[in-house]
Amino acid sequence: MQNKGKKIGVSAALAALLALALAGCAFGPKSSKDSGGMSAGGTSVQSPADQSVSAVSGSSAAGSTSTSASEAVSSASGNGSDVLVPEPVSASSADSGSAVYRTNTEVRVRTAPSTDSEIYKSLPANTVVEVAGEEDGWYQIRIDGGIYYIREDLITKTDGSPQTAAASGNGKTVVIDPGHQAQADQSKEPVGPGSSQMKAKVTGGATGKTTGLKEYELNLQISLKLQSILTERGYNVVMTRTSNDVNLSNSERAGIANDANAAAFIRVHANGSENSGVSGAMTICQTSANPYNGELYSDSHALASDVLDGIAASAQCTKQSVWETDTMSGINWCKVPATIVEVGYLSNAEEEQKLATDDYQQKIAEGIANGVDQFLSA
Ligand SMILES: [Zn+2]
Repeated sequence: MQNKGKKIGVSAALAALLALALAGCAFGPKSSKDSGGMSAGGTSVQSPADQSVSAVSGSSAAGSTSTSASEAVSSASGNGSDVLVPEPVSASSADSGSAVYRTNTEVRVRTAPSTDSEIYKSLPANTVVEVAGEEDGWYQIRIDGGIYYIREDLITKTDGSPQTAAASGNGKTVVIDPGHQAQADQSKEPVGPGSSQMKAKVTGGATGKTTGLKEYELNLQISLKLQSILTERGYNVVMTRTSNDVNLSNSERAGIANDANAAAFIRVHANGSENSGVSGAMTICQTSANPYNGELYSDSHALASDVLDGIAASAQCTKQSVWETDTMSGINWCKVPATIVEVGYLSNAEEEQKLATDDYQQKIAEGIANGVDQFLSA
């Protein structure tokens, strides 16, 4: 959207916009100062009465930059206007000449640096945002004259050329959640939005009986392999964690997938059973009667089923089934298709030893990726 590349000062840009407004040009983002900033901005033809305010709102010009510069331009020309619309330059890039930040995917903008905080608005993929600072893994961004927050891994610093920021391949977003973490957090959170039923925020996970392999470590190792494969295949991949030393509750993990508007949310886990003879892969999704997100059942079930097929084919392991349950907080809090992948049993000596190897982990990861491909190409 910044492809004209011309750097002009904010005041010049505003003056130009004002001049166009006075000349009767249809272009101009609506004022967001009065509307609470929810204007989608810039695409509509406005009546002359609107124009006096529309062009002079600095915050709106900066905010809209982002969302709809290209639509605004094409809309203006589509309306038969032969007026060249000045590029509604991002105030930040125009001012500082510094790097441009763009959204990697459609992202949610929050009022505070937490997935628990209120959602202010969503921004489409590849939107230019003005970064004002950093805080705890979140970027402070300036929109509509206020400071809001986006998780750091959802926006990328670029040199300003749209091509470098645009996702390659199909560009769909897959969020990967390596289950558990080094230290469990047994404090409670609701099992789903609005529920009075509470569950531990994040448990410790299983431990291999033979090799002592920790589930949280295995989950991360497989997830990192899956990240590489999916990135190579052209997906935009977001990880909930890349370290074992984090503290992320299951609902927060779902919040990350929701904020990234994931096309698929893959939660990687390993299983355990009192019966050491049991082995194989299983996937999990909600039931169709899930009170929080039952409407996602058919998508989530298709994802779970495709991923299970993928693993069984790639790893040549026992194919268990898709388990439908509404007891998983990290699924109940989802607003996107999700599945928990139980890659195998740490309670089975033979399977645990295989799971500990890079080779087998790679096969599992490829199987999951094939399932994701299948689901997202359907
Ligand atoms: Zn687990």
